Amino acid sequence: HYRDAFANERDTDWSLRQNSEWINGLIAAEKEKSGEEIPLVINGEQITTNLWGVGRDPSRHNEVSYKFAYADFDRVEHALDTADKARTSWAARSVGERAEILHNAARELSAIRGEAIAAMVRDAGKAPTEADVEVSEAIDFCRYYAEGLDRDGMNDGVEMTPLGTVCVMSPWNFPFAIPTGGVAAALMAGNTVVFKPSELAVYTAWQIVQAFWRAGVPKEVLQFVPMPRNEISHKFLTDPRLHGVIMTGSYRTGKMLRELRPDLAVLAETSGKDAMVITATADPDQAVKDLVKSAFGHSGQKCSAASLAIVEASVYDNPAFLRQLKDAAASLKVGGSWEVNSVVTPLIKEPEGNLLRALTQLEPGEEWLLKPEQSEDNPCLWSPGIRLGVKPGSWFHQTECFGPVLGIIRAENLEEAIDIQNDSEFGLTGGLQSLDEREIALWKSKVQVGNAYINRVITGAIVRRQPFGGWKHSSMGPGSKAGGPNYLTLLGRWSEKELPQ
Ligand code: GLU
Repeated sequence: HYRDAFANERDTDWSLRQNSEWINGLIAAEKEKSGEEIPLVINGEQITTNLWGVGRDPSRHNEVSYKFAYADFDRVEHALDTADKARTSWAARSVGERAEILHNAARELSAIRGEAIAAMVRDAGKAPTEADVEVSEAIDFCRYYAEGLDRDGMNDGVEMTPLGTVCVMSPWNFPFAIPTGGVAAALMAGNTVVFKPSELAVYTAWQIVQAFWRAGVPKEVLQFVPMPRNEISHKFLTDPRLHGVIMTGSYRTGKMLRELRPDLAVLAETSGKDAMVITATADPDQAVKDLVKSAFGHSGQKCSAASLAIVEASVYDNPAFLRQLKDAAASLKVGGSWEVNSVVTPLIKEPEGNLLRALTQLEPGEEWLLKPEQSEDNPCLWSPGIRLGVKPGSWFHQTECFGPVLGIIRAENLEEAIDIQNDSEFGLTGGLQSLDEREIALWKSKVQVGNAYINRVITGAIVRRQPFGGWKHSSMGPGSKAGGPNYLTLLGRWSEKELPQ
């Protein structure tokens, strides 16, 4: 019955003054904190090693925010051994018991909404409004997955056996919702979990894992094990006691994992190069508003972010449209995540590689509609950039850059725009702005993305309403969609156990 009763958790209503006062108080308290030493938690024991990682606050980039312990070889062994021993008893818990624990977890996460927002402001440079929706999504994941298996763990007589031990390898850009979703799904399916958070957002991960333990997840069933990216994580990932990985990260990392362990069950959400198509029939006000939000929310550091707009010729050639787009982007407040109303907040780290190139170098035929500027006080903070005249097939068309840069491509008509949109090794999100039903039908039938959005932003998928995951190189595994049906079934193996006649 729960499944039918599922309703998405509400975000905070920021139009109410008491809510902004509440969060401002918690954020001010968070700003005073620093210097925590976050331990590993293995078999219920808090452990430190002599390997320390440093946590930084992107808005105060030159200060150390906190420290965290990394696992060494012995601790990896200890965690795997613990997880392996805990497998049987956790798998033996009834589906109902596991569901109840996840419902408890949802309550625990809801109780720390404000602290979690403040943690993300500090740890990931997130604006509070962006952090708030993550808390709702995390709660949704717990409640949704809690009801995702039949009460008896059977499905028409086919029985599910958990994979065993699953590693949740989470990203820094959604440091709250994505790890919570992975942990909740793996646990619900009866697996023990080694949680290996992104090294760039350990403090946020630490809030999550404690909420799960308070909810009743046994500590040996869910262990907290930050690991450096070297022989230590290699040892962990190649150990046969590890059976599955849920990851969000780059396509390269996913591919590396596949090659390293072809036998591993991998559920991965990987890279994207997402585009919004804007046709001549679109409502320009709506298109500009949705495009700017999709491109520059959380400074474009979302797999789902719009990094391209493919614009039909008559709109592209209209100076009023370009002016409106430029003004809308230029009006966004650029500032530290601690400052009220910042929209474009500091990048997780100083840009390098493709992102630096996207922010500083144009390709032949391109010009800046809006030139991105680096803040003098903080090298991680960049204002939005818009590249005009991006050519189909060019470097910017094809390369994921993951930051506040949007490229505009001119297309003769919708058919051409769709071809350009589909000419990508990725297929995560995509958008169309059009008020013409025939255009909408054509686009829907042809676009090659996992999440296709019409006349709205292309970020911010919501559990159950828009299960999230892509096509082509944007996902790995059997097309898994987080927050959607069948996700849990990918975290086990199925067998038919016939009763005697
Ligand atoms: N689920 C997020 C969204 O729909 C994106 C997740 C990601 O960037 O990995 O915006």
